[in-house]
Amino acid sequence: MSEHTERDHTLKFDPEMRTMPREVRNILQPVRMEGESPFQFRCHPGIDCFNACCANIEILLTPYDILRLKKRLNLTAEEFLYEYATPYTLTKGQLPVPLIRMDPATGKCPFNTPEGCSVYADRPVTCRYYPIGLALMHKQAATGNEAFFYLIKEDFCHGHQETTSWTIDSWRRDQGSDGYDDHNQSWMDLILRRRSAGDEVQTSLQLSEFFYMASTNPEEFRRFVFESTFLQRFDIPEETIDKIRDDDEAMLDFAFAWLKGILFGDKTTPVKPAATKT
Ligand code: SF4
Ligand code: SF4
Repeated sequence: MSEHTERDHTLKFDPEMRTMPREVRNILQPVRMEGESPFQFRCHPGIDCFNACCANIEILLTPYDILRLKKRLNLTAEEFLYEYATPYTLTKGQLPVPLIRMDPATGKCPFNTPEGCSVYADRPVTCRYYPIGLALMHKQAATGNEAFFYLIKEDFCHGHQETTSWTIDSWRRDQGSDGYDDHNQSWMDLILRRRSAGDEVQTSLQLSEFFYMASTNPEEFRRFVFESTFLQRFDIPEETIDKIRDDDEAMLDFAFAWLKGILFGDKTTPVKPAATKT
């Protein structure tokens, strides 16, 4: 995964910059940025580095990225994953996440064209953030997660020489990354809580498979719920059952709430009394 360390602009889950590999730290400005922190940047088709950032990188796909992209491409989640994704296990927390599968011959993102990003309106949140990195730190459940930001400056990216002024907040609004973060909240919470549990926590193969299914494939998770004994074992309100039948976003929320119970013992999905008897 050497490219990951050399030209990484994926979401970061490291709580402190100093824990990042040296190659990554070298492209970060050593300043912890907040919502009102200013920076200058502009990316546009006329710039001489146009498209330089869309190759030889690792781009993490969040659950909401996949919903948007599969809809745009008119694919099922399974077809999308087969064509465009590859699994990667996060070092801390041992949970599997999907990355965009770059073209093995050219190293380019499969959505990259000479004219730019072919899925621009539905591009992943990582691409929306760039050149900003997001770092998240899990705190206690009652206080939520802490987020901070940092600037990524890579030699090939000449957008930093432009003079358009932004704050972190105005950039996130302009790029639509704030809305993506809202949609991905439950998934990010699970990853952060899992990694804060420490290196000694082991993730079983079955748990990994459930997490990957929930993160990437709401259609398969729906089949698991409706075509197994799931609804006989768990006490799910009729209103929720109706909602998750054909609403992928509701399905994701439901799946992550259930996984919270499996991963951390939270009482998110009550078991039916009869199912607890042996
Ligand atoms: S999804 Fe679009 S913006 Fe993101 S790396 Fe691929 S081509 Fe570039
Ligand atoms: S300015 Fe930076 S983000 Fe924009 S095309 Fe060039 S390398 Fe990519």
